[in-house]
Amino acid sequence: LEERPRSCLLRFRHKLEEDIKPSYLMDHMISDGVMTVDEEEKIRSQPTRKEQAVALLELLLRKDNRAYISFYNALVKETYDDLANLLHDDLPYVLPDAHKSSSDVQAMLSEGGVPQRPVVFVSRPELVNRVREKLYRLQKDPGWVTVFGMAGSGKSILAAEAVRHQGLIEECFPGGIHWLSIGQLDKPDLLVKIQSLCFRLEQSLDSQSLHRPPNSLDEAKERLRFLMLRRYPRALLILDDIWDSTVLKTFDIHCRILLTTRNRSLTDSVSGAKYEVEVESGLDENKALEILALYTDTKLHGLPEEARSIVRECKGSPLVVSLIGALLKEKPNRWRYYLSQLQQKQFKRIRKSSSYDYDALDQAMAASIEVLPEDHQELYKDFTVLEQDIKVPAKVLSVLWDLEPEEVEDILEEFVNKSLLFVDSHNKPYLYYLHDLQLDFLVEQNRTQLESLHTKVVHQYQQHYRDGPPISGDEECLYWIRFLTYHMAKANLCQELYSLMFSLDWVSIKSKIMGPAHLINDYVEYGPILDKENSEVRSQFQEFLSLNGHQLEQRPFPDVVQLALSQPHTSEVYRQALLQAQDRASRG
Ligand code: ADP
Repeated sequence: LEERPRSCLLRFRHKLEEDIKPSYLMDHMISDGVMTVDEEEKIRSQPTRKEQAVALLELLLRKDNRAYISFYNALVKETYDDLANLLHDDLPYVLPDAHKSSSDVQAMLSEGGVPQRPVVFVSRPELVNRVREKLYRLQKDPGWVTVFGMAGSGKSILAAEAVRHQGLIEECFPGGIHWLSIGQLDKPDLLVKIQSLCFRLEQSLDSQSLHRPPNSLDEAKERLRFLMLRRYPRALLILDDIWDSTVLKTFDIHCRILLTTRNRSLTDSVSGAKYEVEVESGLDENKALEILALYTDTKLHGLPEEARSIVRECKGSPLVVSLIGALLKEKPNRWRYYLSQLQQKQFKRIRKSSSYDYDALDQAMAASIEVLPEDHQELYKDFTVLEQDIKVPAKVLSVLWDLEPEEVEDILEEFVNKSLLFVDSHNKPYLYYLHDLQLDFLVEQNRTQLESLHTKVVHQYQQHYRDGPPISGDEECLYWIRFLTYHMAKANLCQELYSLMFSLDWVSIKSKIMGPAHLINDYVEYGPILDKENSEVRSQFQEFLSLNGHQLEQRPFPDVVQLALSQPHTSEVYRQALLQAQDRASRG
């Protein structure tokens, strides 16, 4: 028997067993040649009509498509029209037409443990459609659909929403939808989860069944394989929040699976067709505002101005917006307070939403990092020193970590795959960056180590560029020329900062590569630090730049030494220029 008719028989088995009179039907089937007299005898020997019906269904499930068609025709001839209709759609070689009611669908979903829509809910139609489109690919064959994205981006809610669709269920998953929340768990916990899934599946087939629960993971996998293949063909398993590929391997049983995860590459280790959908980390501003409006029972245009700032601050993260929304529902006059908590990165204060596994945002974030191998956790920590919204090429990290570029690429790929890092692949070379929330979280978590982390950056740079700064103008060079001073200042490496910024060579290199504006800004921004060493020299450099700013923007780039020679003779800028001019002269 093909998958579809078998699935159909299983679904309507109880109904059929209740209603049919086997003896009449069997006569037709014998004359169709799909059933032997022996088989008929055996069934007739059952004491009651019900037991005969049960036996007939058992037999039918072991037969082929012809038997199914014959059984269907027998139902029609014996005027069991309702029952025949149930089987009609899955007649082999006959196209289905829809007939399930939406309350059937609801019942099926809740029986399978699919969570209901949360009270506060906004639609993300484009994403939902993308997931459904991938699910349709599982219509004919088993396979995997991975929904991945960072913590709190709304993956679980999206997965549940995607399967709330009558057409999809009828056409692709008439065997039902079965939801399993996984999360971070160890082997014994996993075994318990699968045991209870098997129990659930067996119970709804036959409430009397008393199978011993499988008592090892291997046994559990086999039991599940049998159930999905024989009893629930064309069903969908949803595995919510998977962390570990060894967990996934337990489900590598040739069935249809939708999984949510932060780790994009989990399905690498399992077999079969694979599809994926990436969930954007944030909602559009209006959707995010809608969540706040729903929680606080306000109209969109009635929201206070802080609402927009809250959304901007967390880049529309569904998790953060709804955590804050839930808090505001309780304390509607705390808009300003929660905004400032968010700005001050007091993530621990933004906690508690009963529907979410993690009590607070910091826990949700920390969990992603904690599953990294320890040495990679250390490396990830180095992202703490990046400035918000700044993207870096792999080469910068190769200097910072003192690792081969290939090794760096692999590590960055791991971070990206685990939704801990984002990649801008439109740029060549690729550029990497953190979500604001991730960066905020890192800064908060490593608050006491900021100085040493920045020091590491400076030292690694110095180690690597002993013979002078990079001047190629590529992405990596741009990063160092732009941010070296920033790292020095944050590291409190004042001597390094003085010798860099009080050097005509640096001024020449930086203004050539970046133009004078960044440089002037450096003197203003780090003025207070530089002034501790020598405020006169600081103002001499600054003056030189302001006077010659327009020249330094010219291309071809002017001779900085020449320009500097026209400074007052008392200026440090002049002194250095003179030395260089003399040096040039002596070298001819
Ligand atoms: P993930 O599975 O990506 O970690 P969830 O799907 O559990 O994220 O969503 C995290 C929280 O974000 C939810 O508890 C909910 O409060 C909120 N959320 C996510 N998606 C939506 C949505 N479409 N509408 C309203 N709130 C949402």
